[in-house]
Amino acid sequence: MHPDHIQAGELLAVPRPDRVRPEQTDGTMCVWCDQPPTVDLGVRLSTSSGPHPGGLRRWHPRACQACAGRYAAEVFASHITRCHACQRQHCPDARALYALSIASRSRPETRRPGR
Ligand SMILES: [Zn+2]
Ligand SMILES: [Zn+2]
Repeated sequence: MHPDHIQAGELLAVPRPDRVRPEQTDGTMCVWCDQPPTVDLGVRLSTSSGPHPGGLRRWHPRACQACAGRYAAEVFASHITRCHACQRQHCPDARALYALSIASRSRPETRRPGR
């Protein structure tokens, strides 16, 4: 994989698939909220305690830009304190996370509806 094409979304920790709504495990709804997703979080493997306990489940979560950016900023902040490569210069992972975190800031109109 080319280092400039790291999918930062794949570096984000996501909820367990059995803790979210079916639409969120399908990737038709942001895995963290109820907005339409635009950011691919990659294919995940999770153990399931649902209908098939103990089995490995493959799923494909997606996120809206606002949530992905917020989590990317968190992961970026903790990453650069632990990553040895980042002590000298931000590594490709760090750059990808940072790019994702600032991408959401350019869209302040993204709002979550109240419940
Ligand atoms: Zn969201
Ligand atoms: Zn790093």
